[in-house]
Amino acid sequence: MRELVDRLFRTGELTEEEFRRLIRHRTKETERYARDLACQVREKNYGNQIYIRGLIEFTNYCKNDCYYCGIRKSNRNAQRYRLSQEDILECCRQGYDLGFRTFVLQGGEDGYFTPERMEKIIRTVKETYPDCALTLSVGEKDEETYRIYREAGADRYLLRHETADEEHYRRLHPRSLSLEHRKGCLRTLKKLGFQTGAGFMVGSPGQTPETLAEDFLFLKELNPEMVGIGPFIAHRDTPLGGELNGTLQDTLFYLALVRLMLPDVLLPATTALGTIHPEGSELGILSGANVVMPNLSPVSVRKKYMLYDGKICTGDEAAEHLENLAERMKKIGCRIVTDRGDCRRSALRAF
Ligand code: SAH
Repeated sequence: MRELVDRLFRTGELTEEEFRRLIRHRTKETERYARDLACQVREKNYGNQIYIRGLIEFTNYCKNDCYYCGIRKSNRNAQRYRLSQEDILECCRQGYDLGFRTFVLQGGEDGYFTPERMEKIIRTVKETYPDCALTLSVGEKDEETYRIYREAGADRYLLRHETADEEHYRRLHPRSLSLEHRKGCLRTLKKLGFQTGAGFMVGSPGQTPETLAEDFLFLKELNPEMVGIGPFIAHRDTPLGGELNGTLQDTLFYLALVRLMLPDVLLPATTALGTIHPEGSELGILSGANVVMPNLSPVSVRKKYMLYDGKICTGDEAAEHLENLAERMKKIGCRIVTDRGDCRRSALRAF
């Protein structure tokens, strides 16, 4: 297995069969080896700098019904909310003062936020904070809408593909959604010049070494600037509420593989990882991650943006406790920086 990790490190590539083998037969030693190399690659590309993103969860209305997601349309127990443009700007103001230079607007697919409304929000944020990057994460739209977002000034877009396997995709989503369409959106986003993020949940029901190998090949082919990977965590009010959660060990291993495959990728230690383990952020970074995304939403709505059970939102991962996070990063030899934190497409791999 060590030889496969080595080759991924040196060439950034493995065949589908090799990915399957590596994922199926990894040992503790393979994990350690992958993690250590991934850290070296992170340092080579980004030094000891950790980028921060202020996450503003601005609406939990959603027209979709993904089987895993707590804010799916059919969840009657979700208390719905949406933030006004003023609320969003107030979040940015607080975030800016704390040192954030990237804001991420994430939400369900909420028809209230028409292209016109989004355009106005994007323009206003970018005019008020010209030195900041703006990331959107609001799901699947048509090309024209993405173009409006881009021309209004949005810099980045997060749209996890969730799984690159057709059958697995259907197990996680209703028929109204398709993998084909989601992949098409990702290609459009890249074409329009967004720094684009794909990714998947670890341990989602039906995931296998085979589906994971497809995820890695898809990521390699798409070559996104960002990759979001976090454990699946069951939400009790969803059809997958009774399923097992993804594990820490699996998540850390796949983070390391992504870093080896895409050396300069922006790779967050996700909130979900922090939810399943109190030191999730540190462990993620020690497996190759270089981004953290503290919650910058108004405290009054945080509990309502409940994608999965137990989602953390007021501890050290809250923007207002950035000092604690900074301290934790320092303990592992890293440093939170006040910087837009763009992708450094230099692809430094070997030394
Ligand atoms: N509507 C946007 C944002 C979705 S929420 C979109 O479609 O892209 C952001 C991410 O949270 C999702 O892409 C999914 O990977 C993750 N997520 C949703 N439910 C989850 C769960 N139960 N466990 C772990 N991650 C989950």
